[in-house]
This record gives sequence, structure tokens and C-alpha cells, in this order.
Amino acid sequence: MSEETYTIAMLGAGPAAIYGADKLASEGHDVVMLNRDIKPGGLAEFGIYPNKHRMKGGLRTVFRRILDKPNIHYFGNIEVGEDADITMDEVRSLGFDAVVVAVGAQGTRWLGLEGEDAEGVFHAKDFVYHFNKLPPFSQKEFAVGDDVCIVGFGNVALDIVHWLSCEEKVDSATIVYRRGPNERSCTARELKIVSGAMDVEQIRAEIDRIAPELDRVDQDPDEAFEDLTEYSDEPLETESPTKFRVAFLRSPERVVVDGDNRVEGLEVRHNELVPTSEGSRPGVEGTDETSVIDCDTVVFAIGDKIDPSLGLPLNPEWHGEYATVPEPWEAHPERPRYMVWDPEREEPLWDTFVVGWARKASDGLVGKAKQDSEQGCEEVLAFLDGEFPEGPDGGRSADAIIDELAELLGGRDIAPVDFEDVQRLESVEEDIAEERGQKEFKFASNERMLEIIEESA
Ligand SMILES: Cc1cc2nc3c(=O)[nH]c(=O)nc-3n(C[C@H](O)[C@H](O)[C@H](O)COP(=O)(O)OP(=O)(O)OC[C@H]3O[C@@H](n4cnc5c(N)ncnc54)[C@H](O)[C@@H]3O)c2cc1C
Repeated sequence: MSEETYTIAMLGAGPAAIYGADKLASEGHDVVMLNRDIKPGGLAEFGIYPNKHRMKGGLRTVFRRILDKPNIHYFGNIEVGEDADITMDEVRSLGFDAVVVAVGAQGTRWLGLEGEDAEGVFHAKDFVYHFNKLPPFSQKEFAVGDDVCIVGFGNVALDIVHWLSCEEKVDSATIVYRRGPNERSCTARELKIVSGAMDVEQIRAEIDRIAPELDRVDQDPDEAFEDLTEYSDEPLETESPTKFRVAFLRSPERVVVDGDNRVEGLEVRHNELVPTSEGSRPGVEGTDETSVIDCDTVVFAIGDKIDPSLGLPLNPEWHGEYATVPEPWEAHPERPRYMVWDPEREEPLWDTFVVGWARKASDGLVGKAKQDSEQGCEEVLAFLDGEFPEGPDGGRSADAIIDELAELLGGRDIAPVDFEDVQRLESVEEDIAEERGQKEFKFASNERMLEIIEESA
């Protein structure tokens, strides 16, 4: 326990924010959480595949226990940023001793291809938010056709294949991947879930087609095939006509559209595998050859990026992450990793930190976000303990800050939800699920959730 108690703003309420808040609150500090969504949980609630009930239920239980702490103050339905409910500067001027940014990676990464704006092109995160019932994505139409190309071969791409096979039951779901089979970035566990939909004949033909490329980098085509299709005899969780196919060494070049701007294919550039030093994965080089894969829907599962509209300085070297203190930070030997860096003033924003997917987009599972946030909050605690050249003001109580925040939001006709509101809402949802004999029920609009919160008060 710290001798002095401070008040920290935590922006977001996903895994990074919640585990970080737990660490800070355990030291006796007050944490005020401002979360865009009505419900906490972030991608653990609205990203992880809907039927992973045990994993999601376990995380919910842990999150509830943490958010129930008396010195964690939850404000849901409050978005921070330019043109949002409250700006970053307003948050910082409320007198918090530190601000921790844990808003995840809300920006959408596009490749900038011709045809990306066509009807039938989606980004994986939006699609995942849609089927996990996060407003407003839950209320938008995601009209999926019969033949879908999914760009990327990570776990998120496989979640899309899972949904397309077991819920949408499309004719074909084809993974389009710029590298070869052995460089896929998904886990065996996720691959196993969808392996029952594999079009094994097509996959064999695809491996045979790229066999000369695999040979060139000393990879055995038969081993690659066996490894990829190891679980293809495992049944899917439901019967499905979907054929799960793959197109290796293909980079998307252009979305081909018809006269109504609807997808009718994906033009891809053919790649070659290039040997690199022993032990490291082969490189890829584009050739002059292209072809078109027939499809009526394209989903890009290529990772997310930071949303620059939050109002924090971005890393000047890579426009895609908030700037953190560059290494080596000569002025201080401990080299803080999580403090936000202002490249114009060439010094840190001493009281502002960034953790989880907000620091590094699409970086790993919940466990990794937890670990990153806990490390970041160690740094926050060091800052509060005066271990950096500048320290906290320590001037305002949590009550005074919360009163001013409530007044500011009230003046804008914005009514935040607190954690008791969330618990009442979730209990109504649980009752409905039980009545209907379902494992889960979620209201799909903010308006309905707010009505339920009011009715159940
Ligand atoms: C499709 C998909 C499936 C996944 N499946 C798994 C899995 O099976 N197992 C696993 O362990 N991990 C899984 N992950 C990874 C896991 O979800 C992440 O590691 C983790 O959620 C990242 O945590 P975070 O808190 O940094 O960000 P997020 O979870 O994105 O949380 C961000 C929070 O910030 C809030 N927020 C956003 N913008 C603002 C703003 N402007 N103002 C205020 N609040 C804001 C959001 O409401 C949200 O609560 C999956 C990820 C995806 C995308």
C-alpha cells in the first residue's frame, strides 16, 4: 500500500484497463474509469468468439470482482476524444494525478486498394463486433454473400471462418495469405475448431501448386499438408456446407467490382518465397503475375490500428501508434516504456501512460494485455512515488474530481452508467437467456440497454 493515495483516470474498460485498475486500486489509489461502451470487458466481451462461454464467463467473473472494489469508479457510455463526450485535454485538466490510456486499437487498417469501399467489403473487427452484438455494429447490416475471401491467416481470420461456416453457412470461405502454410500466425487450437470445414482436396492441390516454392526454402510440402490438415477429420460444431479453402502466396491487389460497386472478385498478386538466414522465416517477394479469385464478399483480417482521434501525440516514425518515450531516453536511466512522449516539446507527458492494445495494436491474447498493463501500471506507481523527474500534483480528492466530471457531463446532457447499472442490465439479460433456454442474451442497441437500466432502477 502506498502511503499517499492518488486519483488516476483509466480510459477504457477492456482487459488492459481492468487489470491495470486492479493493480492501482490494490495500492489504495482511486481509479476513475471512463469507458466508451456501456458494458465493460472490451474485446473480451465483444471480440472473443461468442460461443467461448467458459472463457468469457470466467473473465466476466474476474472483471466483476475487480470493478466492485469501492475505490474503482466506473463511468460507462462515455467516449473520450476529439468530437466525443469529453476530450483528452478536458480529462487531463480535471486534476487527476495520472491518466492511463487503455482504449485498445479502435482504428481500422486498410491496405489502400482500389475497390476497398465496395459493397461486400468488411473489416474483421467491425464484423466481429457485429456478431458479438456491440452497438452500433450490432445494428448495421453485414450482408455476406456465398463466396467469401478472408485476407490474413491469424486467429481473427479463423474466427471469421468459424462464423461463416457455422452461422452464415456460406458456400466457401477462402483464406488469402501472402505467405506460405508454415508461416500462418494462427494457433493450432483455433485451427482445430474450423478444420472440419476444410476442403482437403483443394488444400492438397494448393500445396502441390506451391511445392516448388516450399522446396526453395527447404520446406517439405507433404509435411506442410499434414500439419495444416491434421484436424480435418474433427467434426465442426454444427453441420455446414461451407468449404474452407486456402490461397497461399497471394497478396490482395484490387477488389474487382461490378457496375453497382458490388464485389465480384479479388485480384491477387502472386508471391515467391525467398530463403533467409537459417532458422528465420522465409521472406516473400511479389512477381509480375496476378489472377482473380471469384468471390462476392471480402473480409480484411489484417489487424487493427490506433485511433488517432483520441488526441494524443502519435509516434512520428510510424503513424499508427501513440508515441511513447523513445529509447534510449537519455535523461532518465530507467527509460519509462509506457509514458506518452510529446515529440514537439521533446519530453514526456509526465502524467500520461498508455497500455495494452492502445500501446501496441492487435498484440496477443488477454493474458498479454494483462501483463502489459500490469507492467505499465508499475511505471505509474513509480511515477506516483516520485521516481521520475516530475511527479503527481496530489492536489484533488477523488470526490472533487468525480463531482466536477459529473457536472461537466451533465451540462452536455450525457448520463454515464455506473457499475451497479451494468450489473442490473446483465442480470436482466441473464434472466432472458434462461427463459429462452439460451446460453447468452445481449441487447443489441444502446437505447434499449439504457431503457432497461432505467426501468430496473
Ligand atoms: C476477434 C478477436 C478474437 C479474440 N479472441 C481471443 C481469445 O479467444 N482469447 C484471448 O485470450 N484473446 C482473444 N483476443 C484478444 C483480446 O481480446 C485482446 O488481447 C484484449 O481484449 C486487448 O485488451 P485491451 O484492453 O488492450 O483492448 P480492448 O479489449 O479493445 O478494450 C478497449 C476498451 O476501451 C474502450 N474504448 C475504446 N475507445 C474509447 C474511447 N475513445 N474512450 C473511452 N473508452 C474507449 C472500449 O469500450 C473497450 O472497453 C481476441 C481479439 C479479437 C479482435
